[in-house]
Amino acid sequence: MSEQHNIIIIGAGLSGLYCAWQLQQKNQDVILLEARDRIGGRILSPEYNKSHFDMGPAWVWPQLQPRLNQLMSQLNLNVFKQFTSGDMLYEKNPDETERYNSQSSHSESYRIEGGSQSLVNALQNKLPESSIHLNTLVQKIHKDDLSIVTLQNGKVVRYSANKIIFALPPRLIQQNITFNPALPEEINNTWKSIPTWMSGHCKILFIYDKPFWREQNLSGEVFSHYGPLSEIYDGSPEDEKLYALTSFVGLNAHQRKQINNEQLITSCMAQLQRLFGDESQNIRDVQIKDWSLDENTTTETDLNSPIQHPQYPADIPRHFWNNQLILAGTEVAQQHGGYLEGALESADEAISLCHI
Ligand SMILES: Cc1cc2nc3c(=O)[nH]c(=O)nc-3n(C[C@H](O)[C@H](O)[C@H](O)COP(=O)(O)OP(=O)(O)OC[C@H]3O[C@@H](n4cnc5c(N)ncnc54)[C@H](O)[C@@H]3O)c2cc1C
Repeated sequence: MSEQHNIIIIGAGLSGLYCAWQLQQKNQDVILLEARDRIGGRILSPEYNKSHFDMGPAWVWPQLQPRLNQLMSQLNLNVFKQFTSGDMLYEKNPDETERYNSQSSHSESYRIEGGSQSLVNALQNKLPESSIHLNTLVQKIHKDDLSIVTLQNGKVVRYSANKIIFALPPRLIQQNITFNPALPEEINNTWKSIPTWMSGHCKILFIYDKPFWREQNLSGEVFSHYGPLSEIYDGSPEDEKLYALTSFVGLNAHQRKQINNEQLITSCMAQLQRLFGDESQNIRDVQIKDWSLDENTTTETDLNSPIQHPQYPADIPRHFWNNQLILAGTEVAQQHGGYLEGALESADEAISLCHI
C-alpha cells in the first residue's frame, strides 16, 4: 500500500516549502518529504537565550531580490541592516594587520529579524502539519506507477504521485536517489557537475555579552590571508541582547578533517586575540556548523567547494518522464542560482511546469 497524492515535493528547504505553499494556494493536494528531522535545509538559525544566530544563510539584498522581498512582506517579516559601522581589518599575516577606514563588502546587505529560520518557520505555519513528512529519506523512484520508496526511521514507506518536484541539490539526487528505469547518463553527468552552493563551508559563531569591537570603532569585518578564519563579520541579532562575531573557516573540508574542533577553536581564539585583543577571549558560547559533514547537503564531490560563486548553467533540463519529474532548488535557478532568491525562482519555474 502506498500513500497517494497529486504532487509530492522532495525536500523541505526554502524551495520546497515555498513551492508547497504556492501549490496549496492553487488547491493542489501536495505533501513534502524531508530526510532531516527539521525543516529548512541549508537554513539553520539555532536559538541561544531567545536570540537566533544564522549558521547557514544570513544575508539578503531586498532591493535585488524581488521574490524574497515580496515573500517577506507576505509573511510579515522584517529585515535589519548588517552592522558595518567602523573600520574593517585585513590580516596579511600574524604580524601585519591593515585597518581600512569605514570600508565594508556588506554595506548593502540586510538580515532577517529572528534569523533566516523565520522565513521557513513562517512558511511551515501556512501549511497543514500533516503535509510535512520529516525523517523521510527518498531512496528510489519507479516510473511505471510514479511511486517513491522512502526510509522512515528504518522502515520502508511508499508514496505515489502524479507529479514529483525535486527541491534539493542535483548532486544529492544523482548520488542518493535511484531511478527505475535509470535516467540517461548525460543527465547524471550534468547533475554531478553542478556544485551545491556553500556545501563545503564551515561557519563558527562566537557569542559575547558586549560588542567590544564596536567600542574600538571596528565593524567586526575582517579578511584574513592567514586564518584559520578567512572572513569575520558582526553577527549580532537585531535585539542586541547578545552580540556575536560570525565567521567562515578558511581551511578547506579536507584540511579540517586533519584537526578536531577543539584544535580549530583554539587557533580561532588565538586569531581573535591578535585582531581584537583580550576582550575577544571572554566568549559566552561558541557554535560550529561544518556543512561538509552534513550528508543531507553535501556529497563527496562538494568537498572541493568553489571559492567564487558558481555561474549555474542556464540549460539544465528541468523536467523528465513526460513532465512527471520536475526540478526545483536554488542550484537550478537561471538568474539567482545559489541564493535564497534562487530557491524561490526555481520553485516558481517548477510550478509553471506543473501546468495547473
Ligand atoms: C553556510 C552558508 C551560508 C549561506 N549564505 C547565504 C546568504 O548569505 N544569502 C543567500 O541568499 N544564500 C546563502 N546560502 C545559500 C542558501 O542557503 C541556499 O540558496 C538555500 O537555502 C537553498 O534552498 P533549497 O531549498 O534550494 O535547498 P536546501 O536548503 O538544501 O534544501 C534541500 C532539502 O532537501 C532535503 N533532502 C536532501 N536529500 C533528501 C532525500 N533523499 N530525501 C528527502 N529529502 C532530502 C534536505 O534535507 C533539505 O532540507 C548559504 C548557504 C550556506 C550553507
